[in-house]
Amino acid sequence: MSLETLSPAAALSSNPGFDAAAFDRCVMPTYGRFPLAIARGEGCRLWDTDGNSYLDFVAGIATCTLGHAHPALVDAVTKQIQTLHHVSNLYYIPQQGDLAQWLTQNSCADFAFFCNSGAEANEGAIKLARKYAHTVLGIHNPVIITANASFHGRTLATVTATAQPKYQQNFSPLVPGFHYVPYNDIAALETAIAQLDASERQVAAILLEPLQGEGGVRPGEVSYFQKVRQLCNDKGILLMLDEVQVGIGRSGQLWGYENLGIEPDIFTSAKGLAGGIPIGAMLCKAFCNVFTPGDHASTFGGNPFACAAALAVCQTLTQENLLANVRARGEQLREGLRAIAYQYPSFITDVRGWGLINGMEISADVALTAPEVVKAAMDKGLLLVPAGPKVVRFVPPLIVSEEEVEEALSMVKQVFQDLTKAF
Ligand SMILES: *Cc1c(COP(=O)(O)O)cnc(C)c1O
Repeated sequence: MSLETLSPAAALSSNPGFDAAAFDRCVMPTYGRFPLAIARGEGCRLWDTDGNSYLDFVAGIATCTLGHAHPALVDAVTKQIQTLHHVSNLYYIPQQGDLAQWLTQNSCADFAFFCNSGAEANEGAIKLARKYAHTVLGIHNPVIITANASFHGRTLATVTATAQPKYQQNFSPLVPGFHYVPYNDIAALETAIAQLDASERQVAAILLEPLQGEGGVRPGEVSYFQKVRQLCNDKGILLMLDEVQVGIGRSGQLWGYENLGIEPDIFTSAKGLAGGIPIGAMLCKAFCNVFTPGDHASTFGGNPFACAAALAVCQTLTQENLLANVRARGEQLREGLRAIAYQYPSFITDVRGWGLINGMEISADVALTAPEVVKAAMDKGLLLVPAGPKVVRFVPPLIVSEEEVEEALSMVKQVFQDLTKAF
C-alpha cells in the first residue's frame, strides 16, 4: 500500500453531505487520499461526514498550530473579514507591518516578505540569494546547494531544490543552478563547495531544513549546522533555512535553528504561521536584503486577513505559553512511542524528533509501510501522516493536552498489537 494508490472518493460510505461521484469526476487526481471526508473540528478533534470522531495528530500537515476552531483565531479572522480582507500591496497594510514587527522582534531577521505558501516563500529566498550573488558577490552562474531527501515545495524551482527524484520525475528540464549533497555530512559539503568553486559555477547559498520533515523526520545535527555556519561565514556564502514545517513553535523553540545554536541569514516560514490560513514568509537579515521595489511581488501576499490570522497565532503562542507545552507533550509522546518500539523491536527501528514533530521509523526488514500504519490508526480513530514510505509522522496541534497524548499512545499500541499479528 502506498499513498499513490489509495481509494477513490466513491469508496467512502455514502452520505448526504458529500457528492463523491462529482469529486472523482471533476477534481484533478493529483493526490492519493485516505478514505475520509472531514466535516468539522474542535481543538485536537475532527468529525467526519458520518459523525465519527478522530484525534487529530496531523493538524492539516503541521499547520493547525492552535488546533481547530480556536477562539483566538476565530475571533481575529471574523473581525478582520468583517472589516477588510484584501486590498493588494498597492497600499500600506497595517496588519502586515504588525506581523513583520512581531516576526523580526522574535527572530534573528530584520525584514519580512509575505506570500501564500511554503514553496512561494522558498522561491523568494532563491531569488534573493541569486540577486545577492549577482549584485554583491559578483557570481554570474550562482549555485544553491541543497540536501538529499529534502523537501522545499512543488513549483519548478523548489521541486528542483527538493533533492528527491520521485518529485522531479517527468518535469524536466528542471531549473539550473542547484547542487545536492547528503544531509548532516560536513565533509561532503566541503568537497562539493571546493569542486563547484573550481568550476565557473560558484556557490551563492546553502538551503537546508533544520529538521527534514517530509524526508523522514530527520533532525539536523548541532555539530553539522555549526560547521555549516562557520563555512558560510568563511566563504561569504548565504545560509538559508527552510523553517516551513518546524518553524513557529513546532520544534519546542520558536524557530528550528534555535535547536542548532546558529542563526541563518535567510529563512522561510509558512505551514503553521497562520494556524491553517494560507500564508508564507521569507525573512532575512539586513545585510543580505538586496530587494528593491519591483523585484518581487505577490498579489495576495500579506493581506489583512492572513496577517490577522498569523498575529493571532503568534500572540496566542506567547499568551498560552505554548512552547512549554510543546516541549512537555513532545517528551511525553517520544517516551510513550519508545516504550511501544521497545515492545516491537523488529517492527519499529527508531523514534525521533523535536518538540511536536516526531517520527516513528518502521523496519526496512518487514513489509509493513507507513501508510498502512496510518490507515490502521485512522480506523481506530487517530489521524497520523506518513513522512516517506517507512516513517509515521506525529504533528498534533501545539495545544495538545497530556490526556490527548495518552489517548493517542494507547491507540498506537492497539495498532501494533493488531498489525503485528499478521506477520
Ligand atoms: C510543506 C513544506 C514546503 C512546501 O510548502 P507548501 O505550502 O506546500 O508550498 C516547503 N518546505 C518544507 C520544509 C515543507 O515542509
